[in-house]
Amino acid sequence: MSRRLWTRAPGPRLQPTIALAAEPEEEILGEGCLSLPGANLPVSRPGFAVCHGYNQFGEPIKVAGTGTLARCLQHETDHVNGIVMEDHLTAAERRDIHRQHKKVAKQYPSSWPA
Ligand SMILES: [Zn+2]
Repeated sequence: MSRRLWTRAPGPRLQPTIALAAEPEEEILGEGCLSLPGANLPVSRPGFAVCHGYNQFGEPIKVAGTGTLARCLQHETDHVNGIVMEDHLTAAERRDIHRQHKKVAKQYPSSWPA
């Protein structure tokens, strides 16, 4: 059994899965990632998401959200599935986000994100 986990307040989500509407309404909002601090680009994602998983006690939990919360649920669950924000970008957008990051990278410790 694989172990997948992400944590953010109000607690961990173990084995998280995302449920999206069959025909989700997409929102285009600026999005960044702690892996590329200081950079962000508009990314299209469904505006509503439900994350199912388990808390630290093994109890099933569900978190639903719209807007920024929906975006965070999808972004973090993508990470535990090996998907990064760049996978949602075109090649030109990937070059752009790396350029943005390089401009400010020296402002962050080399151990970032620790
Ligand atoms: Zn990220």
